[in-house]
Amino acid sequence: MLENEPLARYTTYRIGGPARFLVQPADAEDVAKALDLAQERGLPWMALGLGSNVLVKDAGFPGVVIRIGKGLDRFEMKGATAIVGAGLATPLLARRTAEAGFAGVERFIGIPGTVGGGVYMNAGAHGAEFAEVLTEATVMDAKGKVRSVGRKQISFKYRASNLGNVIVLEAKLALIEEPPAKLKELQARLFRWRKAGTPFDQPCAGSVFKNPGGPRTAGVLIDECGLKGFTIGGAQVSTLHANYIVNTGTATASDVLKVIDHVRKTVAKKTGVELELEVKVIGA
Ligand SMILES: Cc1cc2nc3c(=O)[nH]c(=O)nc-3n(C[C@H](O)[C@H](O)[C@H](O)COP(=O)(O)OP(=O)(O)OC[C@H]3O[C@@H](n4cnc5c(N)ncnc54)[C@H](O)[C@@H]3O)c2cc1C
Repeated sequence: MLENEPLARYTTYRIGGPARFLVQPADAEDVAKALDLAQERGLPWMALGLGSNVLVKDAGFPGVVIRIGKGLDRFEMKGATAIVGAGLATPLLARRTAEAGFAGVERFIGIPGTVGGGVYMNAGAHGAEFAEVLTEATVMDAKGKVRSVGRKQISFKYRASNLGNVIVLEAKLALIEEPPAKLKELQARLFRWRKAGTPFDQPCAGSVFKNPGGPRTAGVLIDECGLKGFTIGGAQVSTLHANYIVNTGTATASDVLKVIDHVRKTVAKKTGVELELEVKVIGA
């Protein structure tokens, strides 16, 4: 457990002020202890995975951040069911299941988060999403009580779930047998495609806005408004992918929020579409 720990180093944006407490639990018992700490001190708490879908404000988070990673990263195949810890990195899940000869999550190879974050956010790529393969999630509620939630009890939407105020500890995923060579070939192709179309070398949090539905993606709308390259401070609308706002090196959360505000207002004015945030903004 660390006190007043800057969160910038735990997010892919490399941005963010300190957490009052940062806890890196080794097992579920530690997660319960972290929740106890929050309860005892009357502090808010939040789960964090690899921080690849969050923008932490410059003032940080005035509570307990529970970072789910190592220790909670089990991977086991039981027949065609993958039992995976929330702390397992999603690209690793995609690789290991493909190597074992199972399809269902192979397209997640380029999603740089954890399984927990992926389930919670219903992450997805190339037409596949967690909602399609999840059969059960093990979660801990704010009181430290662990329970299993069946797929039927969870309602998933585009990049969202109704899991609410819980920490995902584990997930069961139903996969389908498929030759490993075929899956690896697909992954190599998807990886090349991603590398060409996303700013790999600049800190960011992936797509900032949800696709609004309808014929044009958020990226296309932003591009059509001439916003590629739009910069405030160290935050810039990527010149490669208009739905990415990158940290050019010195960006603060406040810079990114100003760019978000400008993009939203410009797109609304020029196209009538109100863009909704996909990235979670954290902090007071
Ligand atoms: C370069 C790049 C490319 C990306 N491409 C994609 C893509 O193709 N598709 C896609 O869907 N996303 C994409 N993302 C966004 C991101 O990787 C996914 O949303 C990912 O699933 C987030 O996981 P995480 O562990 O990083 O979550 P975090 O960013 O740490 O957290 C995200 C949210 O989930 C919650 N959360 C995290 N872990 C848990 C847990 N164990 N229990 C409960 N709640 C939890 C957090 O509180 C927060 O609200 C991309 C990001 C980057 C940087």
